[in-house]
Amino acid sequence: GSMSMRIPFDNSYARLPDRFFTRRNPTPVIDPQLIAFNADLATELGISPGEKRDLAETFAGNAITEGSEPLAQAYSGHQFGGFSPLLGDGRANLLGEVIDKKGKRRDIQLKGSGPTPYSRNGDGRAWLGPVLREYVVSEAMHALGIPTSRALAAVTTGEQIYREQGALPGAILTRVASSHIRVGTFQFFAARRDVEGLQTLYDYTVARHYPEIDTPTDLLNAVIDRQAQLIAKWMGVGFIHGVMNTDNTTISGETIDYGPCAFMDLFHPDMVFSSIDAQGRYAYSNQPNIIVWNMAQFATCLVQLMPDRDQAVKDFTEAVHAMPDVIHRHWLQVFGRKLGIAKATPEDETLIIDLLQAMANNRADFTNTFRALGTEKARDQFLNPKDYDTWEINWKQRLSGERDSTELMQANNPWVIPRNHRIEEMIQAAVTGDFIPFETLQSALAIPFIEQPSQNTLTHPPTADQVVRQTFC
Ligand code: AMP
Ligand code: MG
Ligand code: MG
Repeated sequence: GSMSMRIPFDNSYARLPDRFFTRRNPTPVIDPQLIAFNADLATELGISPGEKRDLAETFAGNAITEGSEPLAQAYSGHQFGGFSPLLGDGRANLLGEVIDKKGKRRDIQLKGSGPTPYSRNGDGRAWLGPVLREYVVSEAMHALGIPTSRALAAVTTGEQIYREQGALPGAILTRVASSHIRVGTFQFFAARRDVEGLQTLYDYTVARHYPEIDTPTDLLNAVIDRQAQLIAKWMGVGFIHGVMNTDNTTISGETIDYGPCAFMDLFHPDMVFSSIDAQGRYAYSNQPNIIVWNMAQFATCLVQLMPDRDQAVKDFTEAVHAMPDVIHRHWLQVFGRKLGIAKATPEDETLIIDLLQAMANNRADFTNTFRALGTEKARDQFLNPKDYDTWEINWKQRLSGERDSTELMQANNPWVIPRNHRIEEMIQAAVTGDFIPFETLQSALAIPFIEQPSQNTLTHPPTADQVVRQTFC
């Protein structure tokens, strides 16, 4: 058509059998307005952006770019431990895939783009708040070096949508992921005893993400290792995903489906923010347990692909039981580096645990304590600074044999993270049409390990009246 926008689509999911998805175009919206476009990411994807009007039309789903074959993916999932045999993209459309500048296949997906056959009672839409939260937090995670989906664009729709809080401005996020294949995608076929579909999904997944792999056993172990690394990295920045359902757990090992997620201010292992997690199933320190549980569900699916199922159950059980140790090894390295230890050994574990324990007892800010270790500023984080002093003596002793520990710490302890109260403030402003806090947060979080004196206030923990206790999706 007359569109100036070009996206070099090269679709593969749309070539899979019909039962993997439903072809469905986004539902057009009344008045699409572009509020964010990630030009660097677009370049990485080989997208020629064209005019602003075209960007708004494309990322609202009003215009279908040449080569796009929109579809909603089918999947199942355990939600808070209970199995839902049919979930699927209830408010998302995969526009298609592109091969990026590094030769990697990436999904381009709209979220909030209208109802699909998987919407159940949902409206297929998203409101501006969660769209901006996902935009900022996913880009911050990327800048922090954590595997994640990315944000390519955000638009407002000009339509009102209705949530508990009342009528809210509608919005659509365009996100990019190395795929949206979930544990729940495998569960979809396994639950139906559709072994042929399961085999097709397995072959597709291996070719796309793990070309070096030969057997379902190897795939299980590879995914276990990627997820173990991912969760260790979340723990290292105080990130709480909030909804670690199996449909939100990827096979690629990327973080996806940001909902009521949050970064901790005060350190406490039981921290929960999600308004829908009353039991604390997905609390900070429970994340390593939950990912093991999710991998057990993945393993259960893969058993159906094995010629000797009894033997497979034994082998896979062993692999899942070994996962806590795998996570622990990654966790030790992540926190070792945060303390300036290049290669932590099991003997360093006490040092890490003692600090975390002292932080929890003393209501210390997670990010600011790690960033300032060895200075008065860290000491000031503790209600009883003597607790810090005692720990510091042991730590300094341990560091005496380390080289470049200062540089290591600067590269592993962010100066700034997306704090909940700043995210809320950004959302409140955006609802009134003020996107300056959104822009400010984005630019500061793009270089989170670098001290930016002009943005000092972004590093302050919330005051009593700024504390955000719950996050909503
Ligand atoms: P989530 O917990 O956001 O990952 O979503 C779980 C399931 O609910 C997925 O199948 C979503 O597509 C679906 N869903 C969430 N919100 C909506 C909505 N507003 N309309 C339709 N489906 C939705
Ligand atoms: Mg179909
Ligand atoms: Mg989801």
